[in-house]
Amino acid sequence: MQDVKYVKPKTLQEAVSILKDNGPTARVLAGGTDIIVMARERRRDTSLFVDIKAIPEMNGIHLDESTGLTIGAATPLYLCYRDPMMNQRFPSIVDSSSLIGGTAVQGRATLVGNLCNSGPAGDSIPTLMAMEGVAHILGPNGERDVPVVDFCTGPGRNVLELGEIVVNLHFPTPRPNSSGRFLRFIPRNEMDIAVVNCSTNITLDANNVVTHARLAIGAVAATPLFVPAAGEALVGKALTDETIAATANACRDAATPIDDMRGSIRQRKHLAYVLAERTIRDAVHRIRGEHTEWH
Ligand SMILES: Cc1cc2nc3c(=O)[nH]c(=O)nc-3n(C[C@H](O)[C@H](O)[C@H](O)COP(=O)(O)OP(=O)(O)OC[C@H]3O[C@@H](n4cnc5c(N)ncnc54)[C@H](O)[C@@H]3O)c2cc1C
Repeated sequence: MQDVKYVKPKTLQEAVSILKDNGPTARVLAGGTDIIVMARERRRDTSLFVDIKAIPEMNGIHLDESTGLTIGAATPLYLCYRDPMMNQRFPSIVDSSSLIGGTAVQGRATLVGNLCNSGPAGDSIPTLMAMEGVAHILGPNGERDVPVVDFCTGPGRNVLELGEIVVNLHFPTPRPNSSGRFLRFIPRNEMDIAVVNCSTNITLDANNVVTHARLAIGAVAATPLFVPAAGEALVGKALTDETIAATANACRDAATPIDDMRGSIRQRKHLAYVLAERTIRDAVHRIRGEHTEWH
């Protein structure tokens, strides 16, 4: 382990100035479930941990029906999946939150930490994309909003500049008659990194016609991928086996995976298809109040 100092600021401005004054080896510590491991293994040069958990604006979950959902950057995963409102209105965020790590990890880890770690297989990122998430950022030069679809720029890399901190994630209020689903494939039923993951958010009208659809897939490219062509293959069409297959094909075509110890290119492209199809069908089951098919 490196010789790392630790501070726990109580305000956002204090956190931003500490980060700016201490340069790139000062690291935000949210849950610490990625950054402590990386610092210990010397995969990230780290001189200072800036713990954000005591900053009030960075904690909590708040839904305003007119403006949408805000999740503070320091909010642990377990508070997301234990919240009855989240289960009812944002089930795909609950899917992602409840399968990252195990109980111990979920007691500390955050959605924003998963996003800022910017791993290609991060299990919340496709969901944050499908749900139209926007990262609200504060830095030495002021505030800015970055849609999650534009946030990750490469494996472990993102748009954050020196001194910048993600304050919260914001999502629009779910449309009536809409729902979402996240699924991942792992080779065994233990904690593991996804071979492929996928999240879908879909809205139907009274005639079973899709009025809005967003799909995103992970572990198939250098960053998690939002796939606009997949949503376009569904919108304005009735939900049939053919339209679902066209959408799943769009996900398979968008995937540009690598071969590695977890899966081959062929298997990952196939999984992109399968998970897209299953998440669409499950999201529709949820809209209709039926049980989901896949676990
Ligand atoms: C046993 C174990 C199992 C795991 N299983 C999974 C899994 O199944 N799926 C999965 O996707 N991941 C998994 N992970 C990885 C990790 O738990 C997740 O990525 C988690 O969501 C990270 O959140 P955190 O709050 O702990 O992030 P931290 O470790 O605190 O931070 C991660 C990175 O983001 C930066 N950061 C954090 N918050 C902010 C902010 N507000 N503003 C700017 N930068 C910020 C940090 O500086 C750091 O670079 C696992 C880890 C462990 C140890």
